[in-house]
Amino acid sequence: MSSTLIELEEQYGAHNYKPLDVVLSRGEGVWVWDVDGNRYMDCLSAYSAVNQGHCHKKIMQTLIDQAQKLTLTSRAFRNDQLGPFYKELCELTRSHKVLPMNSGAEAVETAIKTVRKWGYTVKGVPENEAEIIVCENNFHGRTISIVSFSTDPDARKGFGPFTPGFIVIPYGDVTAFEAAISPKTVAFLVEPIQGEAGVIIPPEGYLKKIRNICTEQNIMLILDEIQTGLGRTGKLLAEEHEGIEADLTLIGKALSGGFYPVSAVLSNSEVMNVLQPGEHGSTFGGNPLACAVARTALQILIDEGMIENAAKMGTVFLNGLKQIANPLIKDVRGKGLMLAMEFNPEAGGARQYCLRLKENGLLCKETHHHTIRFAPPLIITSSEVEWALDRISAVIED
Ligand SMILES: *Cc1c(COP(=O)(O)O)cnc(C)c1O
Repeated sequence: MSSTLIELEEQYGAHNYKPLDVVLSRGEGVWVWDVDGNRYMDCLSAYSAVNQGHCHKKIMQTLIDQAQKLTLTSRAFRNDQLGPFYKELCELTRSHKVLPMNSGAEAVETAIKTVRKWGYTVKGVPENEAEIIVCENNFHGRTISIVSFSTDPDARKGFGPFTPGFIVIPYGDVTAFEAAISPKTVAFLVEPIQGEAGVIIPPEGYLKKIRNICTEQNIMLILDEIQTGLGRTGKLLAEEHEGIEADLTLIGKALSGGFYPVSAVLSNSEVMNVLQPGEHGSTFGGNPLACAVARTALQILIDEGMIENAAKMGTVFLNGLKQIANPLIKDVRGKGLMLAMEFNPEAGGARQYCLRLKENGLLCKETHHHTIRFAPPLIITSSEVEWALDRISAVIED
């Protein structure tokens, strides 16, 4: 069964991914099942898009109910879900304004356009000369403009010419940030924790210092919380760990609990008000189905205590990983349920461990050769964390 399905993917699909050969057909909570009936714990959560767990009943019911009423109007007309979605999201995140899109990359593109326009119309940067500072080893998506400032050769090679206007500095380095600022700097785009780079946590106080410099220099701070946001790190937004607020916050992934692509740019009025009718948009952005699903996905994060659980279970998981002492392991780190185990180069790459973990009923994915990220749904229980740790330690000891 699964080999036939894999052959179909290989024969007819573009080969832009290299998935583990497990063909999934059902999911519930932290568990997924393959077409042969084997059960696995999902420790990737679709790159943190299913923080609420697979097929959460309340989101599913909202999806069904809304799909029977109205799905898409386009923004040429208004719909009855958009206003409440804006209000609830703004109140939850202390934002003034929302711009809804679909994918994470679109949210990033939206922020780039918005801060450039802000730079020209408010800050007074000469037209077409705006600079945006970004970090090495960033991951912000796959569009041409976004890969233009990627430092990953696989993401860039063969896709030029690239979009100008980006300055790349080392991550976690305040001095480098200060040195990169010019009168043309309109924004600093950064991840609070670099997920795809291997769960790289910046030095304590980094975000706070960056926030202060941005305020002093009149630079917009854009935090890409598409992966770190919505409870993943044990706070609603990762910026809360340092008690700061970004000027623009990007969210996506778990905004729909994995049911539907929904992303958003959250911002203050000063920045967002630079956009005028006709200057930006999306046919599906802000559609009633997306808004209804996102409202429920947000509500259950709060009502069902998922953020607190992420903080609590994250500590248990991290302590457990730290106890797996083995010379193959270089480092173990994490915040909330965004965790990583990095292997020494002599260990021969992390993928082999992902394959062995799969055989033992645990699904996860290597990021950058030597690191495995563990990011289960936020509803994981302590006995399920123990279950995962037993398997991880067994595979590594072996
Ligand atoms: C996944 C991700 C994106 C891109 O989101 P897509 O929905 O895949 O376009 C952008 N930034 C970060 C930090 C991400 O993790």
